[in-house]
Amino acid sequence: MAFTRRAVLVGAGAALGVAGARAFGPQALVLDGVPLIVPQGGAAVLNDASLLSETPIFRHIVLRDDPGEVLLAALRAELREAAAAGRPVNLAAARHSMGGQSIPREGHAITFDNGLVEASGDTYRVHAGARWYQVIAALDPLGLSPKVMQTNADFGVAATFSVGAHGWPTAFGPMGSTVRSVKMLMADGSHITASRTENADLFAAAMGGYGLIGLITEMEVEAAANQLLEPGFEVMAAEDFPAAFAAAVKRVPMAYGRMNIDRAGFFREAMLGTWTPVAGEIPPASGSGWMAKASRAIFRAQPGNEWVKRRRWGIETGIGARMAGAASRSSLMNEPVVTLDDRDPSRTDILHEYFVAPERFGDFLAICRAIIPASYQELLNVTLRWVERDETALLSYAPQGPRIASVLLFSQEMSLRGEADMAWMTGRLIEAVQGIGGSYYLPYRPHASPAQFRAGYARAEEFAALKRRVDPGLLFRNALWDRYIASL
Ligand SMILES: Cc1cc2nc3c(=O)[nH]c(=O)nc-3n(C[C@H](O)[C@H](O)[C@H](O)COP(=O)(O)OP(=O)(O)OC[C@H]3O[C@@H](n4cnc5c(N)ncnc54)[C@H](O)[C@@H]3O)c2cc1C
Repeated sequence: MAFTRRAVLVGAGAALGVAGARAFGPQALVLDGVPLIVPQGGAAVLNDASLLSETPIFRHIVLRDDPGEVLLAALRAELREAAAAGRPVNLAAARHSMGGQSIPREGHAITFDNGLVEASGDTYRVHAGARWYQVIAALDPLGLSPKVMQTNADFGVAATFSVGAHGWPTAFGPMGSTVRSVKMLMADGSHITASRTENADLFAAAMGGYGLIGLITEMEVEAAANQLLEPGFEVMAAEDFPAAFAAAVKRVPMAYGRMNIDRAGFFREAMLGTWTPVAGEIPPASGSGWMAKASRAIFRAQPGNEWVKRRRWGIETGIGARMAGAASRSSLMNEPVVTLDDRDPSRTDILHEYFVAPERFGDFLAICRAIIPASYQELLNVTLRWVERDETALLSYAPQGPRIASVLLFSQEMSLRGEADMAWMTGRLIEAVQGIGGSYYLPYRPHASPAQFRAGYARAEEFAALKRRVDPGLLFRNALWDRYIASL
């Protein structure tokens, strides 16, 4: 089936492909009949990290209590009121998902804000809303470190479990593979424990289940020993990357790749970064390294500037690689999102992520070379990760084997034409990636078609059936449910 532009702009003066930026005014963008952007005149609205998900809500509350009866009573009261009025509920942390996955339309939005972390042996008990920087601060003095988390430390721990996030520690599946158990408040008010041996079906659905199964209140998670790690970098032809990466993840505890993105060398060269344990005193976990901060200016000068893109690749693979020094595992993970913030109100950063089998990576390179330059989008960065097979999560993106995850960071114009072009390009990328047996990641923009979602997530109907069994009133809902799962 050929991909066609399905984005429809609704409202005065709406047009596709017009020259010049069109700021979001009194128009709405509708994709497959679903309103993606609906401006509200003064009503309570909530947005997420995309800045493109503004959604009317009924109420937003922030709960700061430790896991226990007070927290449960507050959550149950919210559930009762929402159920009586037929409104949805969604619990979230940092709302860095990018397509309304953490927003209940006309409903009760709840945010957790509590950093409780209690370590015991090689596991820790953590408040579901704790952010990774709080986990790192608690574990670091004990010589421990998170086993798996995303690149950035601002995100919530239960949110990480709920999207199936992964990082660059090797070689693991999603973060849920390091979770022993979760405690979850269900739609009927019961507070249950779910693990691989207790309520295993609910554990599998909640892992990567985007808050649609229950409200996670606390978790037991495995920790890793903190280590001093020394970096090494190797530049190679992009086609050679999968074999080098597969060998590296068996050898070192942290590794990632990067890709050249200037048009002349687009997806032709890759860099493999590996971190090897070395002897020495482990310094306390610090924040962002000076290199990360210093690179912001050049990183942000890239849009529209091929010369800067070429220079940046030269610096990253040259002097940058030579100057990177040893750091602790915890420091490497303690990176705030704000380090590379664009500080530009006319643009927004949008992530994509695709998972392909290592042996199909060459096909993936060809797909990116064919599709991305044909769009108007400014690609700023490509990071490559290794993710082991995940057979647990019902909504797994890697059910069949290990995958190379390619994280694409775009700078998108905040305009209707920018959004329509992004939707068009994303649909083409997903179609092509699915054509080589790959999949795409769900926490980003909702530009996949419902058919692409079903093709990518083969157990989605099972997920929907289980959700309806444990939440027959459909209390827990968000944009992911509304757009992709409600109809299954
Ligand atoms: C700059 C940036 C870098 C990123 N890097 C990575 C990366 O390296 N690897 C990766 O895999 N992903 C990455 N992501 C994606 C990121 O992991 C997800 O967007 C994640 O959801 C962000 O955490 P959050 O706290 O903002 O989640 P939120 O957006 O707040 O929530 C995400 C989902 O989890 C659910 N949820 C949250 N808390 C609970 C709870 N207590 N109980 C039940 N459900 C809950 C929400 O309902 C929602 O559906 C990145 C995103 C950004 C913006």
